[in-house]
Amino acid sequence: MPRIALFPGSFDPITLGHVNIVERAIPLFDEIILAVGENAEKRYLFSLEQRMEWMTETFAIYPSIRVVSYQGLTVDFAKNSGANFLLRGLRNPADFEFEKAIAQANREMMPELETVFLLTSARWAFISSSIVRDVIKNQGDYRRFVPDAVRL
Ligand code: ADP
Repeated sequence: MPRIALFPGSFDPITLGHVNIVERAIPLFDEIILAVGENAEKRYLFSLEQRMEWMTETFAIYPSIRVVSYQGLTVDFAKNSGANFLLRGLRNPADFEFEKAIAQANREMMPELETVFLLTSARWAFISSSIVRDVIKNQGDYRRFVPDAVRL
């Protein structure tokens, strides 16, 4: 059975922390689906199309990666896309507590979907999309935190 990982997130915008997790996951999975969330209750800084475009460009050289959008429950989307692993990044204890609850709830709903966590490299552990959004809103040098494809 092919190992298909779903990496869900807002990616608003994609950061070098996300890129680090994805690149380290490439040798572990046959296919990685980067699933960009579209949640009507969340206010994003960047449109879905923009977020997806930056991600598609960033990972264009990797044949095993594709970028899609999704709405609704992650487990439902995982089922429909044939994913058997859920990939998430962990930066710190706060991420761990948050992710643990989500992973346990997901396991109740879909036991066959195994959540896999990768620890972010220390180099990028401080980056979050929300910090990057703050830097962008205040005209700071956001480029050091994001892949080259992200240009405003
Ligand atoms: P969400 O809205 O689901 O939190 P994010 O785009 O913020 O979406 O994060 C998606 C995933 O990427 C999460 O697993 C998160 O822990 C991980 N992540 C975010 N920033 C980093 C980073 N700097 N290093 C490693 N993983 C990260």
